[in-house]
Amino acid sequence: MTANLLDLDLEGLAALCERLGEKRFRATQLFRWIHQRGASDFDQMSDLAKSFRGKLGTSARIEGLPVVSRHESTDGTIKWLFDVGDGNAVETVFIPEDDRGTLCISSQAGCAVGCRFCSTGHQGFSRNLTTGEIIAQLWHAEHFLRKHLGTSERVISNVVMMGMGEPLQNFSALVPALRTMLDDHGYGLSRRRVTVSTSGVVPMIDRLALECPVALAVSLHAPNDALRDNLVPLNKKYPLAELLDSCNRYLEHAPRDFITFEYCMLDGVNDQPEHAEQLIALVQQHRRAGVWCKFNLIPFNPFPASGLIRSPQARVTAFARMLADAGIITTVRKTRGDDIDAACGQLAGDVKDRTRVADRMAQQRTIMLKQTPVEAVANKET
Ligand code: SAH
Ligand code: SF4
Repeated sequence: MTANLLDLDLEGLAALCERLGEKRFRATQLFRWIHQRGASDFDQMSDLAKSFRGKLGTSARIEGLPVVSRHESTDGTIKWLFDVGDGNAVETVFIPEDDRGTLCISSQAGCAVGCRFCSTGHQGFSRNLTTGEIIAQLWHAEHFLRKHLGTSERVISNVVMMGMGEPLQNFSALVPALRTMLDDHGYGLSRRRVTVSTSGVVPMIDRLALECPVALAVSLHAPNDALRDNLVPLNKKYPLAELLDSCNRYLEHAPRDFITFEYCMLDGVNDQPEHAEQLIALVQQHRRAGVWCKFNLIPFNPFPASGLIRSPQARVTAFARMLADAGIITTVRKTRGDDIDAACGQLAGDVKDRTRVADRMAQQRTIMLKQTPVEAVANKET
C-alpha cells in the first residue's frame, strides 16, 4: 500500500522525501501543492522534477474521502457526509459568516464517551479517524468551496473540532492534523482560530498544552459532579475540580486568555436558576485571575432516543442573564442551516444503520432534507 500524503504533516513529509533521496525542502513544495492548491495528481506539480514525480507516483498517493452526500442550506451552511468504510460515515459542516468561514470537523467514527444528549454518543464507538481522514475534511471542503464560490482566496478561516467524536481520545492522529492546519505552507490558520472541543480528557488537555496549544472549548453541561456524571460519563474518571484545574493550567500555554465552556441547555435537567448559581460559584472558586472563561449556551438539538427536550428560549435567556450579571461573558449559540439535516451525528447515524456501501450510495440520492435545525458551531470569540 502506498503512503497517503494527507496523513503527514510537513515534518512527516520531509522525512518521507529524505527516504526517497530528495532534499527536505522539496517537501515544502509538495505540501503547498497538496494543501494550498488542492492537487491530488503528481503530474500537475509542474515545478517538481520528473524523476521525483515518478518516485512519488510509485510510492505515494493523495487520497481524500468519498463524499456520500452534500447538502446546502439557504443560509449558505453546507454539510458533507464522508464515507470512512465498513458502513461508517462522518460529517463535516461549513458555516459562512460575514467575517469568517468556519469548518466543523469530525475526529472519530462514533464516540466512546457516550454523553446522554449526544446522538454520536448513542451510536457507540467505531474507530479513530486517521490524520489523513481528519485533514481530508478540510482539504476537500476548502478546495470545493473555492471552486463553488469562484475564488482563489482562502475560504475557511476557522476550524472547530466539534463534529463527531472526542478529539482528545484520538490524540496521536489529531496533533499532525492540527499542525497541518497551522502550518504556513499548509492552511496557515492562526492558533486562535483552531478550536479543540473536549468533554474533558484531563491528561490530554495537559499534553495538548505542551505539544500543540490551540483554542480550547470544554463541554461542561453541568455545575456539579452528580449531574455531570449522569450527562457526561467521563466525569466519573475526571471530575469537575480536576477538569477546571487542567483548564487553568492550559491557560499558561493557550493562544487565548480564556477557555470556552459549552453548556447544552436541557429542559428541567440543567437549566434551573440553582444550576446557574452553582455554575457561577464553581467558576469563581476556580478563577486564578481575571476573565478566564466564557460560556456558550447551546440550545439542545433533540433526537428521540435521548428522551430529552430543549430548554424553552425564555429559560435559556434567563440562565444567560444570571451568568452575565455575575460578570461571566456568555453567548447563546445561534441556529444555522435550518433547512438541512441536524448536527451532532444524526445524519451519519442514519447511514451507519445501513451496512452496505451500495445502500449508502443509493441513500445519497434519496436522503430527504429534514427539518431539524443545525446549530451553528462558529467560534464567536474570534
Ligand atoms: N467530543 C467533543 C467534541 C464534539 S461534540 C465534545 O464533547 O466537546 C461538540 C459539541 O456539541 C459539544 O459541546 C457537545 O456537547 C455538543 N452536542 C452534542 N450533542 C448535542 C446535541 N444533541 N445538541 C446540542 N449540542 C450537542
Ligand atoms: Fe462524544 Fe462529544 Fe458526543 Fe460526548 S458530546 S458523546 S464526547 S462527541
